[in-house]
Amino acid sequence: MSRNSDGTARVTLALRVHDRPVHIDARLPDWPARLDELLPALREVDDRVIDAVVAHVEAGGKRVSCAKGCSACCRAQPVPVTPPEAYALARLVERLPEPSGARVRAGFAANVERLREAGLYETYMQRDPAMTRDEARVIARRYMALKLTCPFLVNDACSIYAERPFTCRQYLVTSPPKLCDAPLDNAVKPVPIPAKFATAMLEVGEALTGRAPYTVPLALSLDYAGVNRMDLEKSGPAKLAFEQVVRRALG
Ligand code: SF4
Repeated sequence: MSRNSDGTARVTLALRVHDRPVHIDARLPDWPARLDELLPALREVDDRVIDAVVAHVEAGGKRVSCAKGCSACCRAQPVPVTPPEAYALARLVERLPEPSGARVRAGFAANVERLREAGLYETYMQRDPAMTRDEARVIARRYMALKLTCPFLVNDACSIYAERPFTCRQYLVTSPPKLCDAPLDNAVKPVPIPAKFATAMLEVGEALTGRAPYTVPLALSLDYAGVNRMDLEKSGPAKLAFEQVVRRALG
């Protein structure tokens, strides 16, 4: 690890994904950091792994159907985000220039209102750890029926593409795009990505805060960040946390 002129530390990794060499060159905070401050470096790892997976899939004769302009997954799905991602999105919205900031905040407020009306707000904000997979599926179906559009979707494209959550990065399919309109009912074929960043973030977050965290739909990011700010502000050695997340994600 070497140091950059802006005080960040340079970290390099060499991996193999589906027998393809993957080289990662990322920047880490060189100070005690919150987990959301590690996201740029973790996204770099995730993106390079995904590149290798897509190359592998295409070398096998399949084609990833996802492309700019296809936004079915941004129009109904819950898009689970980890607490550090929710915090990063809340901070991003605070920094947005006007009128984009007002438009995005209004989009979030409208989606939150719809979730309250549907009785799903508390269900997602205070996740019951005993919820079964079947119960979660029933709730997801109710969520999808609301057809909530992500507030960051502009003209059928993601307006925060470089900073989109892990779920958005990793959701790639080889099935026809039309099937994504009802993913619980159709034979959607997701591309398996051998990098579990969301799970790893939750595990490392639990070690940092002492509380079992859970994902929330992207639509609730701002509310979640507001309620849990104290936990989200906790920091620790950046390099150690980065290594822990990467080891768990790729292990
Ligand atoms: S963050 Fe971007 S990619 Fe993710 S759901 Fe929203 S618009 Fe779609």
